[in-house]
Amino acid sequence: MAVEPAAAGSARASGTTEVADALAVLPGQRAQSPGGFEPCPGGFDAVWEQVLADIGRATEIDLICHIVPDGDALGSALAAGLALRALGHRVRVSFGDDPQIIPESLSFLPGQELIVPAAEVPAQPDLVLCFDVASEGRLGLLHQKAFAARTLVVIDHHASNPGFGTHRLIDPSAPATAVLVDELLRRLGVRLDQELATCLYTGVATDTGSFKYAATTPQTHELAGRLLATGIRHDLISRQLWDTSSFGYLKVLAAALDRAVYEPEAVDGRGLVWTWVPYQDLALYSVTVEEIEGLIDILRRPAEAEVALVLKQDPDGTLRGSCRSKGAVDVAAACQELGGGGHVYAAGFSVREDVPSTVARFRSALG
Ligand code: MN
Repeated sequence: MAVEPAAAGSARASGTTEVADALAVLPGQRAQSPGGFEPCPGGFDAVWEQVLADIGRATEIDLICHIVPDGDALGSALAAGLALRALGHRVRVSFGDDPQIIPESLSFLPGQELIVPAAEVPAQPDLVLCFDVASEGRLGLLHQKAFAARTLVVIDHHASNPGFGTHRLIDPSAPATAVLVDELLRRLGVRLDQELATCLYTGVATDTGSFKYAATTPQTHELAGRLLATGIRHDLISRQLWDTSSFGYLKVLAAALDRAVYEPEAVDGRGLVWTWVPYQDLALYSVTVEEIEGLIDILRRPAEAEVALVLKQDPDGTLRGSCRSKGAVDVAAACQELGGGGHVYAAGFSVREDVPSTVARFRSALG
């Protein structure tokens, strides 16, 4: 169960590699256009029209989201699936993991009967709509099938999206892919009901950190208002998304915080806070690595430190580092020195070394 507050804006894509996390759009960076990439030459309207024509022609439609789906990915795909099914289309929802794991925190999402294993997606689908997939790699096991489709439509909001597929509806100014799905439903003439609203609210709330992040606009609240007007229990959705965990999680968290180190001299005197989570802790308390994705968002709270680092140990000994800066330091550059990458404010890496030497390397990479 993913139990953490939906971390650093859409920088959290729970359970993904840390680098992929970091490549998601961060709050305050929405206005940036991806490097050299023009999302929609000629404007979105023309693309929407082509997409709607393809949907109208399709006998069956495959709706896929990124691997290790979060609330925005799964909520977007399921909302689109429910709407297209209501319009009489044969639909499948899938994502390229094997096994496919739906986080306990998203178990309430309606429409999950539409989900099929990646193996059940045809080798050459007619029409594939992919949601919240920031790069080809995030298609996982469905990469080949998606590209074999007669038409591949990419619906996404990550500024880092390099642009792929037949039609691209990529809007980095959208705080969540679910916002673009709302537009899809509007253009399809589908009325919002509680099931659709539950999926879309989950997507928008997840990627805005419950409407906290800078990407949240008056339009985001206007959408939330329309979703609440269907009568959904947003209080229960929020509790499930953010305020529910196992007791074991509290014990892992407590141990990680107890292990935290504050180094005031690090980062040129700007301060570093770091901790690590041994795999044994997760095993002892039956906690999944996905459940602790948001630990970095607790560790980055101290005002004393510019940079926060969490190291998570995999069963094979690999350490996956996740770090955040408050803006004065480029952690992506530091992570690159350890073979990782990401964003200026959020980045990650993966190494096969022990904890002290990994922290030492990270510390010196920060300068
Ligand atoms: Mn998203």
